[in-house]
Amino acid sequence: MPSLEKYRKKRDFGRTQEPRGTRARAKKVARPAPGLGFVVQKHDARNLHYDFRLELDGALLSWAVPKGPSLDPAVKRLAMEVEPHPLEYADFEGTIPKGEYGGGTVMVWDRGTWKPEGDPRQALAKGHLAFSLFGRRLRGAWHLVRTKRAPEGERAGHEGKGWLLFKSRDAEARQGDTLLDEETTSALTGRSLGQIQRGEPGVTQP
Ligand code: MN
Repeated sequence: MPSLEKYRKKRDFGRTQEPRGTRARAKKVARPAPGLGFVVQKHDARNLHYDFRLELDGALLSWAVPKGPSLDPAVKRLAMEVEPHPLEYADFEGTIPKGEYGGGTVMVWDRGTWKPEGDPRQALAKGHLAFSLFGRRLRGAWHLVRTKRAPEGERAGHEGKGWLLFKSRDAEARQGDTLLDEETTSALTGRSLGQIQRGEPGVTQP
């Protein structure tokens, strides 16, 4: 199982409501369907970004995507590899206190299952993972490709950690980049970022 040590070191679990990640609790994670889970979290931290997480070997492999995913195959988005997160994180929606690591509001923007093409461990080691997503908002075939250097002007100095996330051309692809503007509420509770931040109750999404 990917190590959660780095994840835990960055956080004070007496202050944040984020999950610590233990085997016993991971077993209770609600699964939308059998298979490997994925989640995209909209994270209104110092810089608004989207966290893209794929379940593998009992943890969530994670990338921070500054501009978020696009359904347009022509749009390739920088995805910075970050430390694996516990499985329970896939259901985390709430506010991380200011001053704590990642301080800000977290929304579950999409949730579902994913399926790798071939052996995902080998693919990740090689730096090209092809996969399908079965979410509410993200569906069809996708790619994560490791870059030698982070794209100019985005986040220099992260060699080896930079990947590109992009959509394959298939029936789920769309021309134009409107998805993030159209879909601004939680896939779990229907809440906006503001409603989550204020702790307003949500409505479980069908
Ligand atoms: Mn984040």
